[in-house]
This record gives sequence, C-alpha cells and structure tokens, in this order.
Amino acid sequence: MAISRRESEVQTCDVQGCCNPSERSFNIKQVSKSSLELKSSDLRQVHLCKQHYREFKKDTKGDRALDAVY
Ligand SMILES: [Zn+2]
Repeated sequence: MAISRRESEVQTCDVQGCCNPSERSFNIKQVSKSSLELKSSDLRQVHLCKQHYREFKKDTKGDRALDAVY
C-alpha cells in the first residue's frame, strides 16, 4: 500500500536561486546550451520549473537558430 518510490518525490528546479517545484527534467547537455545557470554542473538530469522551462525553450528555440549567429 505504502508508496515509497523516491522517484515520485517532487524535485525542485535546478536553476540557481530557484526553489520552485520542477515541472520537467532535461539532459544536462540540452540545458547547458541555454543560458540558465544551474545550482550544480554535476548533474546528469536537470529539473526545471515551469518558468525556467519556458526560458529554456526560448533559449534553445531550435538548434539551428543557435548556429545562425548574425
Ligand atoms: Zn526554476
């Protein structure tokens, strides 16, 4: 009956100075492409809250956009 899966615990956002509950998680490689500053660079999986997820998406809006620097 008791659910003791630690994975189901709510994670917090891994962005520096943020303590919102995480909404999604991403691979560190994806997140390091963005300008988000993380609490630790030693993570494999980065948790992002809603707000930072939006920032992250804006930042990484298509990898092509990153390549096309004017
Ligand atoms: Zn956050």
